[in-house]
Amino acid sequence: MTEPRASASDRVAGTERISGAPASERVGGSARAKPPGRISVTEVGPRDGLQNEAANVPTSAKIAFVNALAAAGAPVVEVSAFVNPERVPRMADAEQVFAGITRQPGTRYAALVPNARGLARAVAAHVSDVAVFAAASETFSKRNINQTIAESLDTYAAVAREATASGLRVRGYLSTAFGCPFEGNVPILRVVALTRRLLDLGVFEVAVSDTIGVAHPGHVRRVLDALVPAVGAERVALHFHDTRGTALANVLAALDFRIATFDASAGGLGGCPFAPGATGNLATEDLLYMLHGLGLETGISLDAVAAASRAIEPHVGHALPSRYLRATATTASTARHAD
Ligand code: MG
Repeated sequence: MTEPRASASDRVAGTERISGAPASERVGGSARAKPPGRISVTEVGPRDGLQNEAANVPTSAKIAFVNALAAAGAPVVEVSAFVNPERVPRMADAEQVFAGITRQPGTRYAALVPNARGLARAVAAHVSDVAVFAAASETFSKRNINQTIAESLDTYAAVAREATASGLRVRGYLSTAFGCPFEGNVPILRVVALTRRLLDLGVFEVAVSDTIGVAHPGHVRRVLDALVPAVGAERVALHFHDTRGTALANVLAALDFRIATFDASAGGLGGCPFAPGATGNLATEDLLYMLHGLGLETGISLDAVAAASRAIEPHVGHALPSRYLRATATTASTARHAD
């Protein structure tokens, strides 16, 4: 981490950025370049998706879903969360899901852990990766995990230390990085500083997350103009929501910065908890359709993910919002009626 730290003097024309070459001079240079050839898609449907659905999906269906996504080629599946079952009842069967899945050698199986107790449960369940989740705004941190940002980082420092000692890989989430449902704007320099703090705790990457789905490509470019020179593109994953229809455009903008890891949820599972009825997570099918169309490899079968989504759909009680899923359902229906 030899890059210069940002200071107030780096704020130019209302745009915060790291000191050094102006953003305009870096376009086409080191920060924005040819996209990486292979993209890693972190499948978050079984956790981030199902946790935010109203229906309580049976454990057996969750196990089949995780197995189907791994068989589709997902390099990482976020399976569940070892959190307080009274606060998050949808994840109360985390142990049973982990005990029931059939592990594929090419897939890592991840779980969220909020503290040492959650980590102990995760270790006992033989997870591959754990994820800790910090926020970029104080109000969201207090409301989501009842800790200040600083308190949560202290908690995660101990979790990361113990997890690493147990041979687990640790991922960091940074929620509300593009906007907070309570505070609105989140300063870019704070996003950079907190991403660094998480990396300093020993996490291998930070999933910079648009929790409320407000990011657009202009905002993504401003964040990455500051973040990529500060921490390196290989340490940044992006977690977009499609609440305002901008998730794929945001991915396209991020590819210019050589970001190579994106989160997505099969079928687009998981509505936006801050906009009832609205779309939340970017759908894996929609992301794969675009990435494969760009000639970027993911190692994941789009058809197999769509099949996994169609199998879980009856359990969630509504049509899943993935555009690809809807379009291909219509095509299949039209084809049936065409003759
Ligand atoms: Mg999400």
